[in-house]
Parts: sequence; C-alpha cells; structure tokens
Amino acid sequence: MKIRFIEPANTPYKKSLKNHFVYDENIRTPSNGIITLATILKPIYGDVFCYSESISEIKWNDVFDADIIFISIFTFNANRGYKLARYIRRHSKALIVFGGLHATLNYKETAKYCDYVLRGEGDELIVEFTKTISSGKAVTSPGIAYIRNGKLISTGEPKIPEKIDTIPDRNLLYGFKKATKYNTVWPQVHASRGCPHNCDYCALVAAFGRKVRTRSPENVVDDIEQAIEFFSGSRRLANMLWITDDNFFADRKWAISVLNEIINRKIKYSFTIQARYEVGFDDEMLVLLKKAGFDELAMGIEFLEDESFKNYNKKSTYDDILRSVRNIQKHGLRTRGLFIFGADNHTTGIGDRLADFVIKNNISGVLIQAMYFIPGTPVYETHKNCLIDTSDWSRCTGKAVHYPVNMTPAQLQQEIITASAKIYSVKRLFGAIIRKRGLERILFIGEFFWQKGVRKKLRDELPYLEKINKKM
Ligand code: SF4
Repeated sequence: MKIRFIEPANTPYKKSLKNHFVYDENIRTPSNGIITLATILKPIYGDVFCYSESISEIKWNDVFDADIIFISIFTFNANRGYKLARYIRRHSKALIVFGGLHATLNYKETAKYCDYVLRGEGDELIVEFTKTISSGKAVTSPGIAYIRNGKLISTGEPKIPEKIDTIPDRNLLYGFKKATKYNTVWPQVHASRGCPHNCDYCALVAAFGRKVRTRSPENVVDDIEQAIEFFSGSRRLANMLWITDDNFFADRKWAISVLNEIINRKIKYSFTIQARYEVGFDDEMLVLLKKAGFDELAMGIEFLEDESFKNYNKKSTYDDILRSVRNIQKHGLRTRGLFIFGADNHTTGIGDRLADFVIKNNISGVLIQAMYFIPGTPVYETHKNCLIDTSDWSRCTGKAVHYPVNMTPAQLQQEIITASAKIYSVKRLFGAIIRKRGLERILFIGEFFWQKGVRKKLRDELPYLEKINKKM
C-alpha cells in the first residue's frame, strides 16, 4: 500500500531570500505529527512519505497514485486542507483521510471533505485503520467519523494511545534536510502529551485530555540527539532546539529525569521550552534547566489582569507572574511572553500597557495573538455568537476573529500592532545590536523583521475590519 501524508499551509512555501530570517512568511517549522505517524507506518507498508507545505511544494505526481492520503489540519490551515482535498479528489482515486487537532474537535465539518476522519492521537488508531482498509473490512475502531448516504457516522470517542515512544524519522519528510539551512526552521521534539489544567481557550486539552503522558527520558533524549544531528552540517546563525510540549513540567519528577539525562549525555546545545509561571518558583528545576542548556522559557502569561485569568479559568495572578519572571531571570534564563488580547474585559490602551510591561520587566520577546475560538473549547461555546466568521478559519493566526465586548475588531487588531511596534521599535533594535550578545541578539534581530511582517499583514486587514464593524 502506498501512503502519503500532507501538512497544508495557509501561505505555502515559496523560495525566497527572506526565508533565511523572516519566520512564517514563506516558510515555517513543520510539525512533528505527520512525521511521527509516517514513522509508525513505514515498517508495515514500506512506501510511506510526507510533504509539508511549510517547507516545500507538494510533488503531486508522487501523491496522486497513493492508496491513502492523510491530511493533518490545525484550525488555521483547515480551509487550505479542504482545498487540497478537493484538488486531490479531481485527480486521484486515493482514500482521503483527515486528522489533527481541528479535525478531531470539528469532525462534523471535516467529514464533508474526505472519506474518513481519524480523531485524537493517531499512534495506534492509524495502524488499526490502515490494516482494516487493506483487508477490506468495515471500519469500526473508536475515533473514526465519516459520512455515508448523507448521514454522519461516528464510531465513538478515540482511545488514548499507550505507546508514544516513537522517534520521528525526519528523512520521511520531503525537503526537510534541505530546509535545515534556514534559521527560521528549528529542530523540535515533543516529549509529553496532555496538561492537567483546563484553560477555557485551550484546544489541546479539549482534544487530547488532561491526563499527562510521557515518553521515557532516554527515548526523549535519543530524539533530541537525532534532531540535533539532523540539523547539523547546515550553516546556521542560530542553533536552538524547541521542546514543543504544552506543559513539560506537569510531571515534575519526569521533567527532572529528562533534564538529568541531557546533562549526563553532555549535550551541548541551546534549548527553548514553553512553561507556566509555577516553574519560576522551582529553584531546583531552574538550576537544572540552565545546566542542561536551556536559555529561555516561553511563558504562557496570556493576560496581565487578574480578572482575565479568572474569566478564562487560567489559574494565575499578575503578582505570581511577576515574581516568577524575576526569579527565572535571576537564574540566568531569559523569559519570552505569550499573550492574548481581546478578553471580555480588555479595553483600548492594552497594547501600550503590555509593551510597557514587557520593556520594564526585560521580557526578551513576545507572541501576541487575538483571542481565538476553536470549536470544541469552552470559550467557543460562550462566544460563538460574536464570531466574525465560522466558515473561513484561515484568519485564526492571531488576527481579530470576534467582536470583543469593549472594543471593535479593528481596535483589537490595532492594539496588537501598537504593542508590537513599541516592543520591536527601531530604537530597541539598535539597543539589542549594541547591548545583547550571541543568540539573544540574533533572535531579537530575526523577530524584529518577523514582527514587521506580522504588523503589515494585520494593518492591511484594518479596512476590512472597519467595514464589517460598521455593519453591526
Ligand atoms: S496551561 Fe496551557 S496547555 Fe494547559 S490547559 Fe492552559 S493553555 Fe492549555
């Protein structure tokens, strides 16, 4: 059986000089999901290969004659995925199967565009599914949805896989090795799954649950070594590996074992990781992180107001965040902040307030997104009547997608532009070139250009947002 995987991209890969230093314009890091599933199927079927529009074009003459084509979608690239499915349908007899976060939560919609939807984590389900298909039997495993005679059929909730110790074979992704020459494509490793918290806007918890599951520390560090090796040999300005877990520190004992394994193997590399504020109070963990080569923590700070934390079920306070950031920095680690604008209590001026907070507290970089509403999350249920559009998900890339309570969509988008312009000003760029050193300096310069591109896209859309606001 010939099997191909596709990861769609809203802005598919385009060859450009910019790809060396501007992230997310024509190139971005492909996700590990499809490569992991391809690695699982490769020993069974042999002819298994992946394409990601994040780093290459799709070689259609290699795809059309496949028996099964899997397409993996998040929310932002769902519409592109549907477009590719329609295109494949016109040129190929392959079975088209969708999976991924958006397909899992929104399978009623996704089922209209394909033969089957595989919901949840596919590590085990994909093996059962492909074996069933090749035997010609009926598909009955839990976690599958499809439409027959106009009726949606669901085989029930997906099971959670027990074995997740697969090291993705990065050679199974077309063009990946070549893409390692770009500083905008990073090595990444996903070490654990699940998060015990339940923030109202979190699609990951809605899709994959609150039970934390971990790979063995040895397996994770084998993966790290392989990822580093895969990216070696390319001349890159910045070498940093991203541990992509949503909450790596949820199982403290396990997290310590992984860090000790990195230290024991004497791996010399820079790492970045996402973290909640609690890790900032764990001195033992911070010492280990520094020793293992972690330079910065990307903190899901989200809001600066206690009211917002409370409204969206995020267990956090402004005071906790501040104390945590200070203690992390005291350990010689940088802090990066991930923020959300557009909470019900947010008003104009939030952009300036955030920029002042970031500059004053020496936060080294930011990702600011407008509040997003993925079907299946609690926040979608409470806000579905104030969304701008529920058929085109391609704007779910941090742009304003709803009518906030105290601002217009255009004002919300303008606040993101304001914060970004102040944090990534030309004056601060020169300050970074003069005062920052090494990786920190390179990252700020790269982010300066990336944010410039982000602001342009946000600004280009303001007339559209102003127009739809007038219609209200
Ligand atoms: S802490 Fe992060 S991963 Fe966990 S539920 Fe909240 S947003 Fe999701």
